[in-house]
Amino acid sequence: MSSNVITLIEQMGLDQHVAPFVVPFMEGFENPERIQMTLRYLEENKALKGILKMKTPRASCDDALLVHSPYLVHSIEVMSALGGGQLGESAYASEDLLSSALHALGGALLAAELAIDDSCKHSFALIRPPGHHATTSSSMGLCFFNNVAVAARSILKDENVEKVTILDIDDHFGNGTAEIFYDDPSVQFISIHEYNHESFGLGHFRETGRGKGQGTNVNIPLHEESPDSSYQTAMTKIVVPAIEEFNPDIIAVSAGYDAHFADPIGDMCIDSRTYWFIASEVEKLVTSLSMKGSFWVLEGGYNPLTLGPCVRATLEGLQGKNLPQLEDQEERDEDEEIVKKNKRIIKNIRKEISSPQ
Ligand SMILES: [Zn+2]
Repeated sequence: MSSNVITLIEQMGLDQHVAPFVVPFMEGFENPERIQMTLRYLEENKALKGILKMKTPRASCDDALLVHSPYLVHSIEVMSALGGGQLGESAYASEDLLSSALHALGGALLAAELAIDDSCKHSFALIRPPGHHATTSSSMGLCFFNNVAVAARSILKDENVEKVTILDIDDHFGNGTAEIFYDDPSVQFISIHEYNHESFGLGHFRETGRGKGQGTNVNIPLHEESPDSSYQTAMTKIVVPAIEEFNPDIIAVSAGYDAHFADPIGDMCIDSRTYWFIASEVEKLVTSLSMKGSFWVLEGGYNPLTLGPCVRATLEGLQGKNLPQLEDQEERDEDEEIVKKNKRIIKNIRKEISSPQ
């Protein structure tokens, strides 16, 4: 394929789930304005020139059953029909949840189909609610259906797709996606995330997969307040060689933007430069490994003013454009101690990867 065709899939404006709170709890940050303001930014800055636009189709509950238990799917149906209720930790239903979640899932499925289709190299699904915290049987952390996991499982049914890499760049560990594919040798899961090295928890680099999936789970737990340079080191030293070694047919990206320095939920310290860098590296890998393409699925990112520049930087990286100078890029001091600690972690991960148990 010679042209670098990109499709942006935008979520239908109807039936938008809003968590039922009257005061701004954390759940209130995950709202329809995230998508609306991002689209407005992209359009006003003419960042969609040459990019095809499509709308999300509505997936079916059967699609969700590709990775989820019938219990999880039924509980979302029932709670939405009742008009609200708690489905899990930080996972609250509204009457519009089922419709929103099925449109988000439809967007992820379409993005994956387009990326394996020869007419489109990269696709980006601008969808919500996010998905990467949803496990096989639990909604949690603002996530209901695991959009990227269902889409990956779906394209693995295609006879031309044997292996998929899911790269998760959200601020938080994609525990749901990791759990779903932990023993699956056909899916490599790589997550760069903020990690509390004092209290530990899921997402440690010693979690490397199980059984036939041993070695296919790669966690890169960085310290709080990590700067752009640590993300770039993680990409260059771990992510790129791990993907080259796995040699997938396609790359899926759980595209969370809450590691941005101005995000109200994440505590990292990066800006749109890093998202451009990651997208450029993915584009280079797709070309050098002769893959079918990549598909990107929106996860977190809760400052609607910075989501626009970050998504734009991603699209420009995928188009092979030079680093754009965007309004969120500013000089910030790097904490040298954190950079040093991250380098040590990355060294340990390289050892872990080269000598699997
Ligand atoms: Zn997140």
